[in-house]
Amino acid sequence: MRSIRRGDSGPAVAEIRSILVGLDLLDSPSDAFDDAMDTAVRAFQQSRGIGVDGLVGDETWGALDAARWRLGARTLYHSVPAALVGEDVRALQERLLEMGYDTGRADSIYGGRTARAVAQFQREVGLTPDGSCGPNTMKALRRLGRKVVGGRPQWLREAEAFRQAGTNLMGKTIVIDAGHGGGDDLGVVVPEGPLRWTEADLVFDLAARLEGRLAAAGMRVHLTRGPHPARPMTGAERATLANSLGADLLISLHVDGHENEAAHGVATYHYGTGNGLSSTVGERLANLVQREIVVRTGMRDCRIHAKTWELLRLTQMPAVRVDLGYLTSPTDRDRLVNPLFRDQIVEAILAAVQRMYYPVEIDVPTGSIDVRQLRVALSSPRSA
Ligand SMILES: [Zn+2]
Repeated sequence: MRSIRRGDSGPAVAEIRSILVGLDLLDSPSDAFDDAMDTAVRAFQQSRGIGVDGLVGDETWGALDAARWRLGARTLYHSVPAALVGEDVRALQERLLEMGYDTGRADSIYGGRTARAVAQFQREVGLTPDGSCGPNTMKALRRLGRKVVGGRPQWLREAEAFRQAGTNLMGKTIVIDAGHGGGDDLGVVVPEGPLRWTEADLVFDLAARLEGRLAAAGMRVHLTRGPHPARPMTGAERATLANSLGADLLISLHVDGHENEAAHGVATYHYGTGNGLSSTVGERLANLVQREIVVRTGMRDCRIHAKTWELLRLTQMPAVRVDLGYLTSPTDRDRLVNPLFRDQIVEAILAAVQRMYYPVEIDVPTGSIDVRQLRVALSSPRSA
């Protein structure tokens, strides 16, 4: 559909406004796309990890449409082929996960696994196990309140699957996602004299360097995009690609930007809701990537954070996104545009990936792996 933007008016604008009002991002319903609505759309995009442009196109509309559903407002069931999607599904999945039911990742999609988890819950509380969540199931969930909380079983399963995959990098599949690219989605753009630095180009260069190093270490490496893709890709499309490749890990590369040029430093993001539901393997990868980069480059440590962004939520493997400094910061920019510095970042990420596959008991101090020795270390038998 054509993007709806500031200055537009009509029934579609009125519908979007009513969703934003329901989300407490706007005060008054109306059918005009005014400045207040522009601010609200940007705030919503920011909260969902969608490119912040104030335009309501397909991706933003999909997220708004999903956001309007509150748990209990409609009956949820496993619909084939078009699954029900929404915030209410995610709330239900998180509730079931807390209680120890296996819904898979809380991805907001009411698929077969969620329906089976609901049926198991229904059976255990004495309801007809039809796998759909209507008034009676909601009543049972409310009655249990927050009393029943399990031990993060989904993440224990994820950690166990990762452990069973073994400690060798050889033959593991890793997806490197260079953010943005395609059409006019260049990410952060900073003109400098006759030059123009773009996030899309810099992260692609980093992805290509990383691809070479990881492949040399024996991994199967896939990039989500080429240097100049024909059109922009959504987070969901990137996640689908990684899932279809059966990837063991995904690392997404971005650089940040801010209107205040003093903002600088590196931050890494993993899947998590902020209320205790977090991918433990993803969190470990985020920690390793963040620490290796900070220790090896001296960039400012903006720490790791849990986010529910599409790319992190919809991927079925441990996935992280790292924002490698601020292109708008003169300090970070000077370093990022230097290919030798980019190689340092690549070494740091390579060391983090290697450490993911070291058994915890023989892990090594941050900054200490000499990645030139990687292949040798990998081909020697694992110590007992
Ligand atoms: Zn970006």
